[in-house]
Amino acid sequence: MADAWNFEVELASAPATTEARTAVLTKPGFGQSFTDHMVLASWTDELGWHDQKVTAYAPLKVSPAAAVLHYAQEIFEGLKAYRHEDGSVWAFRPDMNAARFSRSAQRLALPQVSQEDFIAALRALVTVDEAWVPPAGSGETSLYLRPYMIATEAALSVRPAREVLFGVIASPAGPYFDTGPKPVSIWLSDTSIRATPGGTGAAKCGGNYAASLAALAEATENGCNQVIYLDAVERRWIEESGSMNVFFVYADGRIATPELSGSILEGVTRDSVLDIAADLGHKVEERRISADEWRDGIRSGEITETFASGTAAVITPIGRVAWTGGDLTIGDHTVDDGVGPVTASIRAALLDVQYGRTPDPRGWLTRLT
Ligand SMILES: *Cc1c(COP(=O)(O)O)cnc(C)c1O
Repeated sequence: MADAWNFEVELASAPATTEARTAVLTKPGFGQSFTDHMVLASWTDELGWHDQKVTAYAPLKVSPAAAVLHYAQEIFEGLKAYRHEDGSVWAFRPDMNAARFSRSAQRLALPQVSQEDFIAALRALVTVDEAWVPPAGSGETSLYLRPYMIATEAALSVRPAREVLFGVIASPAGPYFDTGPKPVSIWLSDTSIRATPGGTGAAKCGGNYAASLAALAEATENGCNQVIYLDAVERRWIEESGSMNVFFVYADGRIATPELSGSILEGVTRDSVLDIAADLGHKVEERRISADEWRDGIRSGEITETFASGTAAVITPIGRVAWTGGDLTIGDHTVDDGVGPVTASIRAALLDVQYGRTPDPRGWLTRLT
């Protein structure tokens, strides 16, 4: 193995003014503004990884023949850096993101980045751009980190690229919902499939997202915010939404989520929710759940809440499901803005760990600065 990554730091010559940065941190939004710097590292099949650096955030120079632009040889990750009360900055389970990045790289025939180098890249960027991590006590704010890897080789032949770029960019993130979590409407697609057995569903790659956009447009046309996809073979089993995993809360306190089938993305939030729900006394189940079980459970009152999980929005309540020919409202959505009590308690427990407000018995937090 090559040596651990060492980052050369080239400070931006024209960083944002304090006023400009403060304006962003006051109302960060999501994925709109980026920090002064970024991480880059290059790979070739001859040299391996080299030229690791933290440098000014700027457009990339890539050939119009770069493989990523034509054949979508690309993967990414998403995680957040949280400021704690004492000023320190922490990442939540970055080892899981690193492990998933490694599995995604394997699936997309991209080179491996070690867990140690992946976390070193996050730390290098957050150290230089620490002033961009929103202050503690400013609500559900964080610095969203976006590692990615793209095939930059200028070659139109179809084979794994021999030149690759790894990067990390960072974007201050505000609460996904300005006025607390609001239930979303889900479109149950009967035409689009997200992932197939043997396909790329378990990899975090841009291609999966590209393939989901038409279905998202269909959802919007039908008055919904998100799509939930069914399995490709029987078109019967619930898999996930295009960017979040999904959970069902039963009247008897059970919580169920679709089992990892090879075509579901293994969310870090999903895994954490399973542990937290068990801590809170729920019986948790990973198993197959059909669209009929969901709809019948809503109608009978056996399913009282449904929510989605993902780093960006944490836990999103699902208030309604619609499909060709019908729709249902889930639970009693006049209560507490439509956030069910179980959804709310899991959400709060997760945020408390991330922001360092409760003990972290599982060692989920890694200090960045
Ligand atoms: C990233 C992602 C998720 C959520 O994963 P987290 O690690 O919880 O952020 C769920 N589904 C898909 C398809 C994803 O790309």
